[in-house]
Amino acid sequence: MSFTQLQTLTARLNQLDAQGLRRIRHEVESVCQPHLMVDVQTLLAFNSNDYLGLAAHPLVVEALREGASLYGAGSGASHLISGHSQAHERLEELLGMLLSPFVPSVRALTFSTGYMANLGVMTALTDTAKGDITFFSDALNHASLIDGIRLTRESCHVYAHADVSDLSLKLSSCHSGTKVVVTDGVFSMDGDIAPLKEMLALCDQHGAWLLVDDAHGFGVLGETGAGVLQYFNLRSEQLIYMGTLGKAAGVSGAFVAAHEDVIEWMVQRSRPYIYTTASAPALAHALLTSLRLISGDEGRRSRAYLQTLIQQLSTAPIPANWQRMVSTTAIQPLVIGSNAQVLQASADLKAQGIWISAIRAPTVPVNTARLRITLSASHTAQDVDRLVRALSFESIS
Ligand SMILES: *Cc1c(COP(=O)(O)O)cnc(C)c1O
Repeated sequence: MSFTQLQTLTARLNQLDAQGLRRIRHEVESVCQPHLMVDVQTLLAFNSNDYLGLAAHPLVVEALREGASLYGAGSGASHLISGHSQAHERLEELLGMLLSPFVPSVRALTFSTGYMANLGVMTALTDTAKGDITFFSDALNHASLIDGIRLTRESCHVYAHADVSDLSLKLSSCHSGTKVVVTDGVFSMDGDIAPLKEMLALCDQHGAWLLVDDAHGFGVLGETGAGVLQYFNLRSEQLIYMGTLGKAAGVSGAFVAAHEDVIEWMVQRSRPYIYTTASAPALAHALLTSLRLISGDEGRRSRAYLQTLIQQLSTAPIPANWQRMVSTTAIQPLVIGSNAQVLQASADLKAQGIWISAIRAPTVPVNTARLRITLSASHTAQDVDRLVRALSFESIS
């Protein structure tokens, strides 16, 4: 009982408890849907990223089954050995088509996860620049973007959140040969949208790449769900777009869409692409169905319905000492403040049968602990109404 390293670790865990920072997992027994069986209780959940309700869509589930009978359970190897299936190839072609209006000579490359896609794109760009590269990162960027930059071991300037003039100053005072501006499209914990039109103009002026992580925009934003580039109607060969396939697309995985030479360079040099087993082809096969739903009439109807739910929630009253973030997206956070207060609010709601996760530091800045409410087209107006009534019972303690 004297291995001090283990004792230190145990003490650190106890410290997390004392600070209200211990994270716990809940065991979900049902498919991804608003009414969940979780920890032996039925809860109305507002915390998934399944914005269009595709994770449990019968056609997507059926396509996954079909994919398994066509291609088996696993890919068996990495993409450059023998794991790159016809399903992956078709998925990349379809993604390329969806993004083609926004990036000239576009090509798409799929990854197993968005986290790896972000590591993959930034390390590949660094490999072209021979040490003469600087990253510019929004203060509220997702952890996977931050880790991607860390993995390159190159320099990074953090600019104030969505602040185009701060970004402009920082770009002007930097003399690196290669500049890469990196941003969430829709910010994952705040729900606001990056000012990409102005940012792309700056990148054009400074000869910089603009890498957009659209984990929360792909499938949801834009006329055909092509994401934030479609929402702003942007087009440039300086754009590098990362979209994920486990959120609105309802399955798993991610992709990078960029000029074909950027993609070919990644195939040659991106270590997070090369040195990992290709995802199950059945997932790619299921995604073909999911993407057709997204870009078709059903996707259009779902996005329109989701907008009505967003409108309903964002105009409803909230407890007086909570703060609503300015968001027009399906991410509608309520900032409460301290860890203890947000855990209490989350527990109170759970007692009323509603599940919303408490988001605390380091995911968000200290003292901005929040309830991150996410809406899905699979919610009903009655579900949102029930949430609004439950919130109104929250005391102003
Ligand atoms: C979820 C998320 C990712 C990671 O994607 P995964 O496919 O879940 O690994 C990357 N960026 C942002 C902004 C995200 O919200």
